[in-house]
Amino acid sequence: MPPLIGITCAYDDAESRYYLRRYYSDAILRCKGIAIILPAIQQEALTKKISGFLQGLLLSGGGDVDPVHFGEEPRTGSGTLEPDRDLWEIALVREMLRVKKPVLAICRGVQILNIAAGGNIYQDLQEEVREPLKHLQEAPRWYPTHRVDIEPDSMLAQIFSQRTIRVNSFHHQAVKKVAPGLNATAVARDGVIEALESCDGGFVLGVQWHPECMWEKDTSQLEIFRSFVRAAKLKSG
Ligand code: MN
Repeated sequence: MPPLIGITCAYDDAESRYYLRRYYSDAILRCKGIAIILPAIQQEALTKKISGFLQGLLLSGGGDVDPVHFGEEPRTGSGTLEPDRDLWEIALVREMLRVKKPVLAICRGVQILNIAAGGNIYQDLQEEVREPLKHLQEAPRWYPTHRVDIEPDSMLAQIFSQRTIRVNSFHHQAVKKVAPGLNATAVARDGVIEALESCDGGFVLGVQWHPECMWEKDTSQLEIFRSFVRAAKLKSG
């Protein structure tokens, strides 16, 4: 049985509809996983049940996380919020971490992962980081615009077998204080954290870039999804 991978999605309040870029489910399907799009729910018992039947969770990209979830007031650079989605994703990823199931967290996802585990984020890199790189690129989505340096003893180092890779960048927020139980395993040249992994060796990987938009041009990026689906398959028995 191929593993069931739940993918969180965005919600358009004005239009009352869920949406998700196709890239995420295409990458999972390409690696022979079954992608299930998960609407936001706010029931603890159901969240536990959902984490029980999923073999892996993919936290997708999207808008900003409400700073109330890491104990801050909104700064001027803070952007669009999706309150229901924040609560849902934080509850679900906590449950997946508790039951030690694979998590792949992309862009906003790595920020949610870090906040859910007790860390925080920069609300706006322009405002809070000295001389940041351009992390909100205007080049095509598949095109890598900045470098990241990968920690040698990490899952990412095994996935890429290179110390430095080039990645795309569509974020104005980023991980600030890394949560207990997670390690920063890729960093941009301005010091901005671009990847997190679990310290305990389970498959928990967060990346600040968008590998789902890159793999058709750069197949090395597909290896992130292959490793994730492989880890999820081990949970499907
Ligand atoms: Mn970046």
